Amino acid sequence: MSDLLDRAERLWTGDVEPDESDLSPTEVELAEVAPGVAFVSSIGNVGAFATPDGLVLIDAGSRSRAERVVAAVRAWSEAPVDTIVYTHGHIDHVMGAAAFDRDAEARGHRRVRVVGHRNVLERFDRYRLMAGYHTVVGKRQYRRPDFEWPRDYRAPDETYEDACTLDIGGKRFELRHAMGETDDHTWVFVPQDGVVCTGDLFTWSCPPAGAPHESQRYATDWALALREMAQLDAEILVPGHGPPITGADRIRQALEETAELLESLVEQAIALMNQGVPIDRVVKEVRAPDRLLGRPYLRPTYDDPEFVVRNVWRENGGWFGGNPTELKPAGDADVAREVARLAGGPAALADRARELADSGDLRLAGHLAQLAMDAAPDDTHVRAVYVQVFDRRSGREPSLLARNIFGAAADAGRRADD
Ligand SMILES: [Zn+2]
Repeated sequence: MSDLLDRAERLWTGDVEPDESDLSPTEVELAEVAPGVAFVSSIGNVGAFATPDGLVLIDAGSRSRAERVVAAVRAWSEAPVDTIVYTHGHIDHVMGAAAFDRDAEARGHRRVRVVGHRNVLERFDRYRLMAGYHTVVGKRQYRRPDFEWPRDYRAPDETYEDACTLDIGGKRFELRHAMGETDDHTWVFVPQDGVVCTGDLFTWSCPPAGAPHESQRYATDWALALREMAQLDAEILVPGHGPPITGADRIRQALEETAELLESLVEQAIALMNQGVPIDRVVKEVRAPDRLLGRPYLRPTYDDPEFVVRNVWRENGGWFGGNPTELKPAGDADVAREVARLAGGPAALADRARELADSGDLRLAGHLAQLAMDAAPDDTHVRAVYVQVFDRRSGREPSLLARNIFGAAADAGRRADD
């Protein structure tokens, strides 16, 4: 058994704890998971299928790993790539396609055909429009000051709307559209090989249905798609991120429990919304079932169930959460200066922030540290406390998004010191 499949087995059984290397592998590795079917671990993963008419790839991986993904696939097969199917237009799944185009040209192969849902095209338009925003967000949520959003996307040659079947070299690839992480998702079932490729509808973590910086995500439809895939009795699951899963029982369990987690968050949030509970309390009162969050494939390592609840609110209730001051608020700095004046100055707010942080109430400490910072952004003491509070918040968060957003706030406080 390859190291990759051995690790996948140990992760499933709970023998090893999942860590960042499972979702963001630094090495690109290929494992043959069935005759003529390969799994390439990357960010995101790539599924490869050999057919008499050439290779079919499900996703192409990210820009940074593209050459290594091509090399891994080429070490496995030298056949022309006939088709790449995009599971969705996120850059970690599509940017590698250009490297396969270049490979085809260098080898004198025919041009690669790319297939995706029609909304992928609109996504690429939106990405060009919002490239500046996504650059800012990438620097913050991945805590990478060098991050630059790409602008050159390999568009699909063919798109579809609800469902489409590709017959390539006698092998059937059933493509189904799903709303979920995105509005342009495709999951792919290959009945002859018993393989389902889920894209980011399954990622070995609490489903990223929260995503504070991203456009709307669709938790209810997401769960429906997972339930549909669970009915397929697939023997191999190729996820968007993380290792493959083998065995029909395990696959059904993983898909159904992921659906159950989303359904639980949605049902609880909507029940409270229907009682007129404001978002502040909804976010605090909805609880993700511990039984599910404890599964190795549902840990909140990337996104946070609390963020999922906010997205459920936004999808069904708009952006207003019920606090009238948030409808047409005063400026943050104006509020902060007024509160600081009442408290006896920004330093008093900062000192109380530190006390609260020391007593373990980092949420409340964060508010006071932010008020102090907004009231007196040039004050050295205030900045030092601010950095300390947000570094501590960052250190406590299991999800990459919360960890990095708090960490980026601390970094901004530090930069003001330069
Ligand atoms: Zn992804």
